[in-house]
Amino acid sequence: MTKIKIHGRRSHSKASERYVDVTFEYDSGTVWNGSIPIEYRRTGTNLTEDEEVNSYIEKIYDYCSPIRHEQWMQEQQSFWADKTKAEVTKSFFDALTTFQWTCVNCQLPSNPNWARRIQDLKEMGYTIATDTAKYCYVCKKKYSSYSNSCVTWWNFWL
Ligand SMILES: [Zn+2]
Repeated sequence: MTKIKIHGRRSHSKASERYVDVTFEYDSGTVWNGSIPIEYRRTGTNLTEDEEVNSYIEKIYDYCSPIRHEQWMQEQQSFWADKTKAEVTKSFFDALTTFQWTCVNCQLPSNPNWARRIQDLKEMGYTIATDTAKYCYVCKKKYSSYSNSCVTWWNFWL
């Protein structure tokens, strides 16, 4: 697992989610910093044993490989093609396709119901990780509570 660095586990208690924070390095030179949900209600994921967690992370490492991105984006385009009434939700999806942590305060579309839009994406089947304690180097803010509407960063894959 030399290309996979595990930084530790953390919980997002409000949403009953647990994550492993990781850094993935790929042969292409791409480095991806993200969080893998090991407890995530919507997908029925609930892993506790180290062995289970490690093999899950290895699977996700392959799944998140940059060589899959182009095909993944094509699949998403056909998924969204007939969802013409979901323009606002789509704009949130588009903002997240960088696969990088995205600041709710300054990088997502400005929208008072952003939490609802994120919820919509989750209901469509996207996995979105949350970190309420990340520092944003763009707006220079660090938020610490979920109730503040600017708190959370996301990344995701389907
Ligand atoms: Zn920001």
